[in-house]
Amino acid sequence: MPGRLLSEAHVRHGNTLPVTALQRSYGELNPPDRLLLGAGPSNVHPRVYKAFISPIVEHLDPYFSEVMEETAELLRCVFRTRNRITFPISGTGTAGMEAAICNVVEPGEEVIVGTNGFFGERMKDIIERCGGKPIPLTERWGNAIPKEAVQKALSSSKARTVALVHAETTTGALQPLSDIAKITRQYDALLLVDTVTSLSGCEIDIDALGIDVCFSASQKCLNCPPGMAPITANERAMEKIRNRKTRVHSLYFDLSVIEKYWIESNRVYHHTAPILLVYAMREALRIVQEEGLEARWQRHRCNMETLTEGLEALGLEINAKENPCPSINAVLVPTGISDARVKSTLNNEYGITVSVGLGALRGKVLRIGLMGMNSTQRNVLLVLKSLENALKKEGFTPKHN
Ligand SMILES: *Cc1c(COP(=O)(O)O)cnc(C)c1O
Repeated sequence: MPGRLLSEAHVRHGNTLPVTALQRSYGELNPPDRLLLGAGPSNVHPRVYKAFISPIVEHLDPYFSEVMEETAELLRCVFRTRNRITFPISGTGTAGMEAAICNVVEPGEEVIVGTNGFFGERMKDIIERCGGKPIPLTERWGNAIPKEAVQKALSSSKARTVALVHAETTTGALQPLSDIAKITRQYDALLLVDTVTSLSGCEIDIDALGIDVCFSASQKCLNCPPGMAPITANERAMEKIRNRKTRVHSLYFDLSVIEKYWIESNRVYHHTAPILLVYAMREALRIVQEEGLEARWQRHRCNMETLTEGLEALGLEINAKENPCPSINAVLVPTGISDARVKSTLNNEYGITVSVGLGALRGKVLRIGLMGMNSTQRNVLLVLKSLENALKKEGFTPKHN
């Protein structure tokens, strides 16, 4: 009996796992049906699920090679880029962040980084771990980084990389990039952008803006399971990477090596791609292409506007009023109301998952995401009414009543 063998092994190694846990039988998985309107993951599109359970082939199979090529092409469309180096990193959004930073940043190098939210702070942390010297541009969590601050930092330092978050999922703010991209070019610096929560949901055009390195994730506006992080890097960035004085410390994230597996026709093994996730990503990108990027951006903008109006009609305040993001909204929790209890009511009574605040906004906001296929008028109305009921249950009186 496997349970018995396991428990003996655990006894031998002094592990205290209770024997009962090993001897009981485990039922089939039966996850609850949730509408995921938080900071991610979003719901997975039925067509993406279907692709995910297609038969697996080897990671070097000619069939998979074709799938990889098409996935890279579709990704270029969604990023709006002609960059050769465009593929999904095997890992979640944070892996994309690590990959982008550890390739571009060399030890001892100064890097300008916007720290106006949790993920900007995370980029700063990774820059430090790569031996870089971050120059943080601090702002209230909810504001964007002003272009003047970027210009000032570029002119008063040796930094030749600027790292910013396009859609700061923890504050609800969207970072304007067009002027900053121009300034960054003037100083011959690279612009590195996190589009984890924005890709396919918020307008962004990598080549037109002149963004040099950009990464995203599968589970936000693309409606894929978590586990892949699309990344793209242009020739300016690759030139800096190829001329590094030190090797990229990470073998797994070394773009110049992954390139030989993902992009070159004579594919050389680097790691076993998560084949089923790549199938899923390809299908998700096909769905984006069918809708059209502009239509998709417009849909996200429209639905977020309706949601914002509804939240304000309830008497609630939006955290990032000045630069609202079309895919995520951080709404302030009224004084005296517990964010955790509201979240739990929404989850338990309505099957709707929203997110609580992180870092500086912990306990202060609820985050409502309308990502990819979840951005619909129907979901807006559902979450507004459910939230109203959940708040009333906590003693809050909505304004419009
Ligand atoms: C979710 C998110 C990440 C991290 O992605 P994981 O998939 O959780 O590793 C990074 N940046 C932003 C802006 C995000 O919203």
